[in-house]
Amino acid sequence: MHSTILVTGGAGYIGSHTLVALLEDGHRVVVLDDLSNASPAALARVGEIAGKPVQLIRGDVRDGALLDQIFAMHPIDCVLHLAGVKAVGESVANPQKYFEINTQGSLALFSAMQRAGVARAVFSSTATVYGAPEFVPLTEAAALRPESPYATSKLAVEYMLAGFARAHSWRAINLRYFNPVGAHPSGRIGEDPLGEPANLFPYIAQVAGKRRQILSIFGNDYPTADGTCERDYIHVCDLAAGHVAAVNYLLNHAMPGECPAVNLGTGQAYSVLQVLAQWQATCGFDIAHQIAPRRAGDVPSYFANPAGAQSLFGWRARQDLARMCADHWAWQQQNPHGYNAD
Ligand code: UDP
Repeated sequence: MHSTILVTGGAGYIGSHTLVALLEDGHRVVVLDDLSNASPAALARVGEIAGKPVQLIRGDVRDGALLDQIFAMHPIDCVLHLAGVKAVGESVANPQKYFEINTQGSLALFSAMQRAGVARAVFSSTATVYGAPEFVPLTEAAALRPESPYATSKLAVEYMLAGFARAHSWRAINLRYFNPVGAHPSGRIGEDPLGEPANLFPYIAQVAGKRRQILSIFGNDYPTADGTCERDYIHVCDLAAGHVAAVNYLLNHAMPGECPAVNLGTGQAYSVLQVLAQWQATCGFDIAHQIAPRRAGDVPSYFANPAGAQSLFGWRARQDLARMCADHWAWQQQNPHGYNAD
């Protein structure tokens, strides 16, 4: 059965890859995005890859009247809610922005779904809801200790969605992402950070592409094998496939009232130095780097137990670190200034 999925934040990094995966699986999509951290070019390229045009509704997810109009005009079977802000550091400086856009935005969306009788939703949450873990790998039952307003703004929405699901017999899922990286293998869509990248992969990509001079490695005295922090990097196309698996599960198998949290990770951790070594092997040249002080708030090691997604909806990550670097590098080379040239 092919369904119509409303994807909020569909023009962004994760959204654009998820649209390709949904379209390739035969779903119809409607995109709501305010383009505050995304480009319409991404949607044009999604259309090229999937061979079907993608319709953008440009607007704010907090706009209840617009949401009512969208639900009145389109027979939405499921909402994929990806729209939000995601910079941990910025959230510490400006928590209001994070609660307004992430938390209030989600409340506006779920309220409009309720008015329209739409009863399925997948929410884009984050593994940072676990905070500094006591044990790794992290199962979904691990303690929740969000440390930044970003993480609390997301965890609040998880609880909110679970409440709507229970009260109104929705079928819903909270997806907790680990570290999405890489790009579509076509090199046509990928991550296009605004300003200086805050994350490891886009930073390395810009140093490799000579847009930045040198990578700073934030600390090499952590209690890990090589002293640098370990993370669970996941190919963005695997992450996109996880969303499709979650949507199909909600459409076909889920029980009313259900709203589990599900990790999307690989279960494998790599250190900053291991990532850098793979990038250098992929590029075939040395990438300038220096050891710098620790970054505030970083935890030494952080990775998923991904068994929950496998048992609930038959999904697991398939792409390895070499593929993540190769696809990210191809995107960087083909689009040295992101979507700006379009
Ligand atoms: N990192 C680094 N240099 C950078 C960016 C990140 O050494 O320019 C490190 C960071 O300290 C962390 C890891 O790379 O240990 C992953 O960082 P990222 O921001 O990508 O993910 P997160 O910390 O949010 O999991």
